[in-house]
Amino acid sequence: MKNRLFLTIVLYATMSTVSAQFDSLFLDQSLRIDYVHSGTDTTEWYALEALIREPYWGGSKLNLVDTFMFGNYYVEVFDKEENLIYSRGYSSLFAEWQTTNEAKILSRNFFETVLIPFPKKKVKVVISSRNRNGVFLPQFSLNINPKDYFIKPAPKKEMLVHDVLISNKPEKAVDIVILPDGYREEEMDKFRADCEKFREDLFRFEPFASNKQHFNIRAVLAPSKESGIAIPAKDFWPETAISSSFYTFDSERYCMTYDHKTLRDLAGQVPYDQIYILANTEKYGGGGIFNFYCLSGSSNRLFAEIIVHEFGHGFAGLGDEYYDSSTAYNDFYNLETEPWEPNITTLVNFEKKWQHLIPAETPIPTPDEPQWDNQTGVFEGGGYSAKGIFRPSRDCLMHTFKGKVFCAACSEAIQKMINFYID
Ligand SMILES: [Zn+2]
Ligand SMILES: [Zn+2]
Repeated sequence: MKNRLFLTIVLYATMSTVSAQFDSLFLDQSLRIDYVHSGTDTTEWYALEALIREPYWGGSKLNLVDTFMFGNYYVEVFDKEENLIYSRGYSSLFAEWQTTNEAKILSRNFFETVLIPFPKKKVKVVISSRNRNGVFLPQFSLNINPKDYFIKPAPKKEMLVHDVLISNKPEKAVDIVILPDGYREEEMDKFRADCEKFREDLFRFEPFASNKQHFNIRAVLAPSKESGIAIPAKDFWPETAISSSFYTFDSERYCMTYDHKTLRDLAGQVPYDQIYILANTEKYGGGGIFNFYCLSGSSNRLFAEIIVHEFGHGFAGLGDEYYDSSTAYNDFYNLETEPWEPNITTLVNFEKKWQHLIPAETPIPTPDEPQWDNQTGVFEGGGYSAKGIFRPSRDCLMHTFKGKVFCAACSEAIQKMINFYID
């Protein structure tokens, strides 16, 4: 008993030290670094656009350094003694675009942003990008003095906020902000109802269901001038709050936005970790990029399956386990390297993936036959490729919407990510 008490005291002492560490390094606000990211299939260039001070910090105050190393990019913050005081992995639309045919013949420009807790003292921020061999290489470095008077305050939007689910303080919860696109002022009741539907549907699936008490969901009621979102091939271009569009990279069902600044301006009205955009459309489509944002239509009959699938990408860095439908990508994964996504493998470095979840007698690779339904193995086909990339289960929500469950590897990855946010 005495020992346990001692352990508890030590634990609390450690926790308060780490929390005190946050308070000594950062304010309870965010520093947003807006930059442009341009290039071709093989080149990239970063250029600073603006530094913005946002009113909230939604992330953990204990887990400041990223332990996952997911994503195609990595932002690191160093104090003046070169100690790493914050880091986070993320991906972007630019990284995906680099694998399209267009990137071979054209250079393009994308807006991107990273969010870090607002530093109290001078810091150095370094952004690295992952090369084809999976190694992060520094690309962009920036010294920031938090007293610099060119750091702009975030624009005051004075939008109404609808609390969809409030469970805990932002630093102890996964905070999702839902943004509306293509809802007119008169349609805000529909948006509120769609947010309630989002909450009901997200928590119908494990492991979200058993972790509901660790989530906050807030919605920023930002109206659009016109209803619906852009469908370029139909010459339909409504004027909307976030300029979302189908046909991203000329793939009809791929629905994203390039207007990253507006997106962040709206999201920053509340504390948040993850952005989910609900587009006011019945059309099937969506998209989700790790620690970037997720987007999908709010009135499709597969709404529930789409939101958990996209949130799997955006929140836990899960890869697509399908390989049988058309995408705009060429050689999205290098088969000579282990992909960073926790639920697909090239078998190059499988030991660090889901091997511990596979029963000893299971053959590897596992035959893609009904006798292995609902079992964890290593099945060939995944990551947009029928050969050379393997997935953990015959079916999973990251593969099809038939079985309506996440496989064991995806479930474990989601749970680990939830744990990282709630410490
Ligand atoms: Zn997907
Ligand atoms: Zn899976």
